[in-house]
Order: sequence, then C-alpha cells, then structure tokens
Amino acid sequence: MNTEKSIKAFQEAVKHIPGGVNSPVRAFKSVGGDPLFIQSAKGSKITDIDNNEYIDYVASWGPMILGHSHPDVIEALHQTAINGTSFGAPTLMETEMANLICEMIPSIESVRMVNSGTEATMSALRLARGYTQRDLVIKFEGCYHGHGDSFLIKAGSGALTLGTPNSPGVTKGTASDTLTAEYNNLDSVLSLFNEYKEQIAAVILEPVTGNMGVVRPTDEFIQGVRKACTENGTLLIFDEVMTGFRVAKGGAQEVLGIRPDLTTLGKIIGGGLPVGAYGGKKEIMDHLAPNGPVYQAGTLSGNPMAMAAGLTTLKLLNSTPDFYTQLEEKAQFLSAGLQNNLEQLKFPGVINRVGSMFTLFFTKENEVQNFSDVMKCDTELFAKYFRLSLESGIYTAPSQFEAGFVSIAHTKEDLQKTIDASFNALKQLKN
Ligand code: PMP
Repeated sequence: MNTEKSIKAFQEAVKHIPGGVNSPVRAFKSVGGDPLFIQSAKGSKITDIDNNEYIDYVASWGPMILGHSHPDVIEALHQTAINGTSFGAPTLMETEMANLICEMIPSIESVRMVNSGTEATMSALRLARGYTQRDLVIKFEGCYHGHGDSFLIKAGSGALTLGTPNSPGVTKGTASDTLTAEYNNLDSVLSLFNEYKEQIAAVILEPVTGNMGVVRPTDEFIQGVRKACTENGTLLIFDEVMTGFRVAKGGAQEVLGIRPDLTTLGKIIGGGLPVGAYGGKKEIMDHLAPNGPVYQAGTLSGNPMAMAAGLTTLKLLNSTPDFYTQLEEKAQFLSAGLQNNLEQLKFPGVINRVGSMFTLFFTKENEVQNFSDVMKCDTELFAKYFRLSLESGIYTAPSQFEAGFVSIAHTKEDLQKTIDASFNALKQLKN
C-alpha cells in the first residue's frame, strides 16, 4: 500500500495545525504511522489521496449510518444551499426536525438543537444543574461526553487513548464537582448517593458505551441507576450522541427499556454535518431561555444545511420499515464471522456488539464489562492488528478504545472481505 501523498500531507499539516489534526482521535498516535488523508467517500468505502480504497467502519465516528454521500442527503444539501445557508432566524425545517425527534424518541417532549455533541452534553448538564439547583454530577470511568470541562475526568475515547483522561486546564473547582463511578457497578453509584445526598444534579452515562469500546449495561445496573435517580431527585441524562438512532430507531433507551429525564444527541442527527441536540421532559426543557433562566444559545444552531442533511437521514431511518432489521443482520453476520475467527484460531479476544456498534477487544479475559476490564486489553497487539487490517483495505478506528460502525451500505461482500482480512491478520499475529 502506497501512502506517500498522505505522509507528505501530514508533514504539511503539522506546520500549522496542532498535531496535524483537528481532533486528536484522528492521529495514529497509539498505533504508529501517519493518519490517512481522505479525498472522497461513497457508500461503504473511503478513498485516500493516494487512491487507496478501504471498507470503512469509522463512518466519521458514527454519523454515516446510510453510508457516505447518500444521494438523497446530497440532493437535500444542494437544494437547501440554493436558498441560503444561514439566517439566524427560525425555519420550518427546525420544527420538522423537533417533531421527528420527539416521535422517534418518546422520552423527548421538547428539544433544542446545538452544533456538536460536546455542546449538547455541556448544555444538558447546565440545565440539570439549573433545574435541580444542585452542583454535583456523577459520570462513569471510561465514558466520554465531549470535551466540556466537567466531563474530562476519567474520560474515554481520545483522552484515554492519548493518556490524558484528566485534562490539564480543568480547574480544581470544576473537577471537584464531578464524581466518578464504575460502569456496571451499581454499588459504586449508590455509595456516592449515600455520601452526597441531595447534592447530585445529574447522573450522565453512555447507555451503551462506545468510548471505551462497546460495553452494554446490565439490566440490574441500569435499572438501579434509574431508580436511584428518581428516589434522589437527580436527573438521569442518557448521552446518546453515539447510540441515538444507531442501536435502534429509538436509541439505547428503546433497547434497554429505560426512560431518561434528558437525552443528548449528535452524530447521526446531523447526517454528516455538525449537529447536536438535547431534549427531554417539557417541564425541564422550559427552564431554558427564553422561557426560563438557564442560558444557552447558538449563532448557527438549527443551521439549514445541517437540518437538511439530518432531517433527510432521520426521515429515511424512520420510514424504511426494515432498516434496523437489515442493519442488525449485517452487524450480526460480521460479528459472528469475527467470533468464528477467534474460535478457529484459538485466539484470545472478546467481541462486544450492540446493534451496529461493535468492538473486538484484545484480551485474555472472558468478558469486558467495565473500564478495568477494558484496561486489561493488549493495546500493542491491537496496534499490530490495526496496521494489518489497514494494509488489507479495512479502515477502523486507530484505537482499542473505540467502537466500529456498520452502515446500511456495507454489502455482504464487504463484510466477508472484512472477516477474511481479520482471519489473516489474526493468523499472522499468532505466529
Ligand atoms: N458524547 C458521546 C457519547 C460521544 O461519543 C461524543 C463524540 N464521540 C461526544 C459526546 C462529543 O461529540 P462531539 O465530538 O460532536 O463534540
């Protein structure tokens, strides 16, 4: 594989962009080598500037559930651009978007659009604090909720990959308002409630994690967290930036059968353009300005281009009857193939999958259920596997602590090719 142009492009990029990338997860720091520069993408494939084509499981870190450059999304963007790209005044599309979100996710009765997942979680937390008039928040080790100060405590994703789960620059005061518990360990949550009675504004979690790799909550854990929140007057925030419209039409809350008080959204909701949203009970959302005192605003919020791409995507997801069944079949085929490889080669590893999100953990343990299990993974082995996969035309996230995403555009042939490539990579690693 020749990546000469990407190598040169990266040398140029580092001159005036910190680390050469506009988001740290794009760097190949933990796997070695330079990031690929992408020139185009269509369906399940992306092509780098050296003209190498890859089957893509990064999917822009989740949004591209329809595959890249879906013709309906591109057409909607063309049509919208002709009428102007930003007005800073209400448009009909924003109401249509809000209606559709509330229909697809029934716990959301009222929703505010923002521009990224980070903005969504920061704003949801401010609202929870304003509403409850309390300061503390509980988050979970290895969960990532964007780069808001309150969340960069024992954070997952790039913060974890690059070894900065507690970022410098977050003041001691902010850090002390964030309490951390262990995922899938209800006692760790209950003991915080015991200690900080009536001071906890919110519990925020990824209702299926992606940012320490895919981990599903146990029923006991998630039901227990819901109950503890209700009993203590604490708001439960499901951060569904990644899982929303991904693991099911109604997100992880549909899969788990739990109704959070607030939900944050991003990624898919923008159809590949920069969008986030947060919503929940109307009574809580009415505390936001201009109705209430909790302030949150945005020059480009509800931007027409972003609404056009997002709305087109959501409408397709909502109106295609067997969309999620088809997606489940594809993801199931892939994970069964990968599992079969591990068994055939007697290669130690665990595959966690929920819907079309999956992670292959390089671990000798039998299961991966929380952050300490994740930390037992062999990241050097992962790095070797990543490079072998890339060389055989499979593009995955350059970190063990991430999810892979199957899109509706992945064909059986793509998935089989991925399974075969994985078999060959594992075989080489065994020798
Ligand atoms: N929450 C979760 C669960 C996420 O996965 C992410 C991004 N990976 C965010 C929040 C932050 O979203 P953004 O990168 O759009 O700011």
